[in-house]
Amino acid sequence: MAGLYLHIPFCKRKCNYCDFYSVANLGYLNNFKNRLLQEINERKYLFSNKKVNTIYFGGGTPSLMDIEFFEKILEKIYFEFHFDNAPEITIEINPENREKSFLRKLKEIGFNRISIGTQSFVDEVLKFLSRQHTAKDSLLSIENAFESGFENISIDLIYGVPGLLKNDFEKEILLLQNLPVTHLSAYHLSVEKGTLLSLKIRKGVFSEVDEKTGFEQYKTLIKTANFCGFKQYEISNFAKNELISKHNSAYWNREEFLGFGPGANSFVDNIRYICTPDIKKYLLEFEYSQDILTEIDKINETIMLKLRTVEGLDTLKFKEEFGEKELKRLEKELKKIKPEFYVYNSGFIRLTDKGMFVSDYIISRLFV
Ligand code: SF4
Repeated sequence: MAGLYLHIPFCKRKCNYCDFYSVANLGYLNNFKNRLLQEINERKYLFSNKKVNTIYFGGGTPSLMDIEFFEKILEKIYFEFHFDNAPEITIEINPENREKSFLRKLKEIGFNRISIGTQSFVDEVLKFLSRQHTAKDSLLSIENAFESGFENISIDLIYGVPGLLKNDFEKEILLLQNLPVTHLSAYHLSVEKGTLLSLKIRKGVFSEVDEKTGFEQYKTLIKTANFCGFKQYEISNFAKNELISKHNSAYWNREEFLGFGPGANSFVDNIRYICTPDIKKYLLEFEYSQDILTEIDKINETIMLKLRTVEGLDTLKFKEEFGEKELKRLEKELKKIKPEFYVYNSGFIRLTDKGMFVSDYIISRLFV
């Protein structure tokens, strides 16, 4: 299994918490369209013998692009790559780009999954996050996507936001009972260096949500999502009717993917690449950092990615891949961690809800 990722690095305005690579300068947009096609030409050889089964347009804001752009890119992709079956083809859209004619055309040209950046159904929270849409926009975008023929609709929610009350968060998730949403990605607000939000927090304008409140909201998320029929399959991801994101699941399974666009990552033949996140540079030349994974990198990645999943880390497979000595080392380190954070039975190591909430800390303790 292999995936293609296309990074559309434009946003109308930068949100105050966002550290994804994107620029709020649409002046580069037309030149970018041609460069992306050129990059596909230059890099397609990396996937010459791979079968693609997912395509994902992320950003930035892919929904700022026009239909002709997507038609051209998909046509190019179908021409240049090999496919096993019909691939999962996802597009991220912002709720303000929700015109039915646009969504219908996306469906017609082959998109079969839509991921809507709702972030919250509480207008005060959206304002706090400096988003450009309202809760009403989000509801309409979901409705329009469904009426345009999308049956696989994902939304994003953010919790751990200063001012978001536990009850309000619970009500947001309960809304899903009456919406045609099949997938939920919910993230704790993380304050990243260099963002406007981190500056405001440093200046004392806001304080971050404390760990206890954050964990209470995480428990609310799991319980309420479950009540609404969504099954958790990863720390932040929940699916109805088994409609998990095949594209993201492939990352957690360390499967290969080829990314295009400034800031896009790739993982091919044991090498991780990052295309320099700089649109000006991208328009002149394609530049990639590249990192060949060592055995230690592979072990650490496996621990990190598998423990993010509800399925957990299969110790039999781990032993087959990395040897008995490495499994013994992992088990020894695991014993140093409080039992409330993990469960080890039937050959699988899984994090508990408490462990998932502080997964970065636990996982780093298990690294080689
Ligand atoms: S719309 Fe998305 S990618 Fe763009 S700035 Fe906001 S959070 Fe970041």
